[in-house]
Amino acid sequence: MGRLFGTDGVRGIINRELTPQQALRLGQAIGTFFGEGAKILIGRDVRAGGYMIESAVTAGLLSTGVKVYRAGLAPTPAIQYTIKTQDFDGGVIITASHNPPEYNGIKVIASDGIEIPREKEREIEDIYFEQRFRHVPWKLLLEEAKPYPYVNDIYVRGVIEKVDKDLIRSRGFKIVIDPANSVGALTSPRIARELGVKVITVNGHLDPSFPGRLPEPTTETLAETARIVVSLSADLGIGHDGDADRAIVIDDKGRVQWGDRTAAILAKYLAEKHPELPRKVYTAVSSSTVIEDVLKPLGIEVVWLKVGSVDISRTMQRNKDALCGFEENGGFMYPPHQLVRDGGMTLALLLELLARERRKLSEIYDELPKYYTIKTKIPMRREQALKVVERVKEYFKDYRQITIDGVKVITDEFWLLVRPSGTEPLLRIMLEAKSEDRAKELLETVKRIASEVVG
Ligand code: MG
Repeated sequence: MGRLFGTDGVRGIINRELTPQQALRLGQAIGTFFGEGAKILIGRDVRAGGYMIESAVTAGLLSTGVKVYRAGLAPTPAIQYTIKTQDFDGGVIITASHNPPEYNGIKVIASDGIEIPREKEREIEDIYFEQRFRHVPWKLLLEEAKPYPYVNDIYVRGVIEKVDKDLIRSRGFKIVIDPANSVGALTSPRIARELGVKVITVNGHLDPSFPGRLPEPTTETLAETARIVVSLSADLGIGHDGDADRAIVIDDKGRVQWGDRTAAILAKYLAEKHPELPRKVYTAVSSSTVIEDVLKPLGIEVVWLKVGSVDISRTMQRNKDALCGFEENGGFMYPPHQLVRDGGMTLALLLELLARERRKLSEIYDELPKYYTIKTKIPMRREQALKVVERVKEYFKDYRQITIDGVKVITDEFWLLVRPSGTEPLLRIMLEAKSEDRAKELLETVKRIASEVVG
């Protein structure tokens, strides 16, 4: 049986790897999976081909007798929040998240607003490949897909009611928002303005050619926005990815702060200011141990999971004891709102943190332990990568290890993660150390082990 779903839905270059024919069939499979009469919300980001793919999926869904509601353009977290709070049976989002502009994708959301689990994706794949599509008689095709233009309103309201509005309003903040010319432009500036914040948008108009920058927020793609933050003396900047479930922060000094450092200051803030919330933080092994440095003294446990946001969301849902969850790429999850990555909610929480702390954001980040970071990859086959992981385990056997996804070695001076890529023939290496020399030395050690295996 073939596979359609990758780590985060179906993805491909539009009209080459992802065609309207596939989208139609996938719509039929998804509709068959949810069953006749199910209420399905469909929406999309700004990407090229989005309307085409949405229309094809909608045709497939309708043919199976499900009721389709069209959200139009909206961030992924806005669609997820609406599915959860407005009694939908599920949803479909047409997005390729942070991928380059030529990509698009399809992901399926369960009634709880979280991406469907792997085993449900397999069910849909089976229906797709075996073409076991439900074809309902004409009497069940009387209804059209209905416009549902309320998603962004519902979401903005939902975010704002979860933070201290008056406190944030009282501070007169000025911020820069860079939604990468995509759907974050429809909600994040509104969230901030309704919280009394003066907003300057960069790359703020919708444009599927992504003229301002690539959809992935990184130190490189946000360099120009970071300069604007400094030149306007803004309190902070935010860069979203193409579907605005990620928020990467630029501090008042124009430094792009990686998602695990932002998660560390947010988690500490939530733990101290919201003692009613549970005391565990969930993240993937690819995140920095800076989160443990910050939370251990507060008695908060960090639960390390496999790489992939759906596992984090589903584990938090099962265990019901999460203060928050996050991915290091800027995807932060705040359970009182929803158990998925949410760029707009992250922005609102950050504003509340800043309003309460009454000092510069850069000062708050500067309190975190400093690490020198290296991220790299070595091309090799998966079996070789797994062998390298075993050798690394052996080499660092005297240290604390987490072996849920490759091997993560954690010490007081450094941490390193060596794991096979889930999607490509690569060994991924991430490490952080208190000094540059130590970091380079560790990288050399891992490279030496890898070359012994690969030859
Ligand atoms: Mg995304």
